[in-house]
Amino acid sequence: MEYQKLSDAFNISNAEVEALYSEMLKTTEESKRLNCRSCGFNTCEQMVAAIFLGMKHKSDCVQYAIYEAELHKQMQKNASTLVGELLTMCYLVEKERKNVLESFERFNAVMQMFDASVGNLRKALAYLIKPQ
Ligand code: SF4
Repeated sequence: MEYQKLSDAFNISNAEVEALYSEMLKTTEESKRLNCRSCGFNTCEQMVAAIFLGMKHKSDCVQYAIYEAELHKQMQKNASTLVGELLTMCYLVEKERKNVLESFERFNAVMQMFDASVGNLRKALAYLIKPQ
């Protein structure tokens, strides 16, 4: 069978072909020519034509399913990392909150001691000025 450009055979513009390749996550020239035949077509280009004609779906491409599974796995890994970082941040915020509370309590204790000292000093001064 003689090679015929997809765009000529099915009246698909190059932009439409590229858009379909892109939807199938085929972004490199190599990925567009894997031609593994798992989808039942001899070439990826024929599969693109079948998708264009509504006979097939991008998920029928084994390579697409693999890319999608890898992306999903990567997203799960990123989500796990994010959750781990959030938990660490929560722990640090809680630790800092406890530090601030402890500092506030120490400050309060110092202020009470200071108030007591001032009170005692006032009593002493009052006694010195007006001894009873
Ligand atoms: S299954 Fe995917 S990679 Fe394999 S030939 Fe079909 S379109 Fe190409």
